[in-house]
Amino acid sequence: MTEAPSLPGIASDRPQTVQVLLPLPLARAYTYAVLDGMAPQPGSFVSVPLGPREVRGVVWPGEPPADLKEKKLKAVLQIYDVPPLTPELMQFVDWVSGYTLFAPGAVLRMVMRSGAYLDAPRPQTGFMLGTLPENLNLTPQREKVLAAARGLNFPVAASDLARRAGVSDAVVRSLATSGALQKLETDPDQPFEEPDFRRKGHDLSASQQAAADIIRQQVATKSYAGLLLDGVTGSGKTEVYLEAVAAALQQDRTAQVLVLLPEIALTMPFLKRLTQRFGAMPAHWHSDVGDAGRRRVWRRVADGSARLVVGARSALFLPFQNLRLIIVDEEHEGAYKQNEGVLYQARDMAVARAAQANFPIVLASATPSLETAVNVSLGRYTSVKLESRFGGASMPDVSLIDMREHPPERGEWLSPMLVDAVNENTAKGDQSLLFLNRRGYAPLTICRKCGERLTAPDSDTWLVEHRFSNTLVCHHTGFSMPKPDRCPHCNSKDSLAACGPGVERIAEEAVAKWPEARIAVFSSDTVQTNAAAQALLEKMAAREIDILVATQIAAKGHHFPHLTLVGVVDADLGLAGGDLRAGERTWQVLSQVAGRAGRAEKSGRALLQTYQPEHPVIAGMVTGDRDAFMLAEQEGREMLGFPPFGRLAALLLTGENETQVNDVARALVQAVPQAQGVEVWGPAPAPLYRLRGSYRVRFLVKATRDVSIQNFIRAWTGSVKIPSSVRQTIDIDPYYFL
Ligand code: ADP
Ligand code: ZN
Repeated sequence: MTEAPSLPGIASDRPQTVQVLLPLPLARAYTYAVLDGMAPQPGSFVSVPLGPREVRGVVWPGEPPADLKEKKLKAVLQIYDVPPLTPELMQFVDWVSGYTLFAPGAVLRMVMRSGAYLDAPRPQTGFMLGTLPENLNLTPQREKVLAAARGLNFPVAASDLARRAGVSDAVVRSLATSGALQKLETDPDQPFEEPDFRRKGHDLSASQQAAADIIRQQVATKSYAGLLLDGVTGSGKTEVYLEAVAAALQQDRTAQVLVLLPEIALTMPFLKRLTQRFGAMPAHWHSDVGDAGRRRVWRRVADGSARLVVGARSALFLPFQNLRLIIVDEEHEGAYKQNEGVLYQARDMAVARAAQANFPIVLASATPSLETAVNVSLGRYTSVKLESRFGGASMPDVSLIDMREHPPERGEWLSPMLVDAVNENTAKGDQSLLFLNRRGYAPLTICRKCGERLTAPDSDTWLVEHRFSNTLVCHHTGFSMPKPDRCPHCNSKDSLAACGPGVERIAEEAVAKWPEARIAVFSSDTVQTNAAAQALLEKMAAREIDILVATQIAAKGHHFPHLTLVGVVDADLGLAGGDLRAGERTWQVLSQVAGRAGRAEKSGRALLQTYQPEHPVIAGMVTGDRDAFMLAEQEGREMLGFPPFGRLAALLLTGENETQVNDVARALVQAVPQAQGVEVWGPAPAPLYRLRGSYRVRFLVKATRDVSIQNFIRAWTGSVKIPSSVRQTIDIDPYYFL
């Protein structure tokens, strides 16, 4: 038999095919045949054979390759009963892939996760009110159950209903047998309650009202705009953007809204606040939620019924049906950059998503990132300002303690001036915060006998002493070991000394200085769960803590009404190291932490311990002139052509064989294409040259804005054969230079 000729674009009797993208690091979608009776749509979730395996993926837009061998085609096995991905989201996946240079399948994996959420969970048996039989013996216990059942608008498990009624399960079951309760099969992933957008929020101040009006107007246009909500700490930004959330939910009854938060510790108080505002708990997406909780959110976002979603950066890739507004709270936070798997900046990707799908996005911050500030000055974003704190609270008074003139006692870290200030504050019954952005007891453990600095095995990373757990921990690899009593190098006994302070050491000093005070430590090591963070915040609010010793985890977003003094133990800490955002980041952290003071009626102050009071960041904190600081920062970056004035990408080579890694680096140097406006720096050993037994070498690529840095890198790395034992990681817009 001869094959029928097929003309391009004209249907022939060739088998119907679809392109299927799999959530694997593959360069492109694969072609599969569609058997009669199946009708996969673009965006449909399907399963297909891949080698010996069956894999779940998504029907993707696109044509089969021209050289397709139809005879070899395998067929789609199954279509899942889950709403298809929207064209918008598929376009976004392709775009993120093109931007980050990670395979489209790797990006799709962030949308699909493991693929397990496609399986509807086993139905559960639930009970609701049935028809009361005439001869029913109504005992008081049964009355209680029926009363509880009358309040239900969805079926609940027997044990749940029994608990609500305060009776045993047996009472519920006997009522079911009688028909007074009906038994129903239900989906255990209960839909989320609809947020009540008609509910009124707090009465807004005049400036809040004005800001809310501008944002609401933008929401009403149903089109893309980038808005910066720029308000000092405590100005009530949240109240303002919640008005926009309400407006978006109201004007389109299928609209979904996403609020991104950078930090898990902020989530619980925030969810509480939203629940009060809208009378319903929003869907909450976070690694902390557990797999069943995540499945519920994923499925309810996919079917469109979860209308308000609060989540960490990865929530941006949830399978929304009709996403119409994104809020990025604390937009300046480095936590929006994902540093594992697909490397992306969630804030930047969120802006791209909003632009592609044509809806507004609100970035909120008291200390906007330089990227955002420049976008405002170029007119790309509209800035909406809140100039003062809500309710007449004043901004904290910031002053410096010059540590060269007021040094602490030997072996201590708090200067007499700071100690006096805490004394005074505690005597008044007010709360103080001692801030040091360093976890553990001491950042470095050194042997007094042989000078050895203890590092993690196979890594150039220092071991940090944690005294609460009596361990030495590597903050990069997670390696930990009990603190030895002998030096692992020279075997001297009791020779290991802790160098420098971490937050636990400051707490130790505080306990020694203020034995009467109630002191607590707030760091990711001492407060590991959402619930623990919540408990600590409640203790703060109830004034059961006098002195809180904390890392940056306490610096962000929290509202401590009785906190009036912030002491920054080492204001210079972030300035060392010199990556391009060091100054900006230090400014942000210091402003945020100072901004915890005096947020209610009492005014607050912040004291910064510093050895370099004349440094622009430190001096600028006293004047509080953010715009002047940002302008100086901006000029510096512009001069050097750094982002956002130029583009930056990092290329990291890692491998266990040092020679091989360096060979590949050399081959890459030879292959650097000549291109206008592009500079390649390196190879240089990474600051952490050895990590978990791998050797690490980096390149940095800098390009002017008119150059596609992606195209350059594709051409460059595509021209060099890299053995599989050397891993190449490309990081567009890198934030970490380790
Ligand atoms: P920001 O996010 O700007 O730091 P928040 O939105 O957290 O500020 O507001 C700071 C505090 O002021 C919160 O306790 C908040 O409930 C309160 N607040 C802000 N605006 C109002 C308002 N219009 N009415 C009542 N309380 C408000
Ligand atoms: Zn030693």
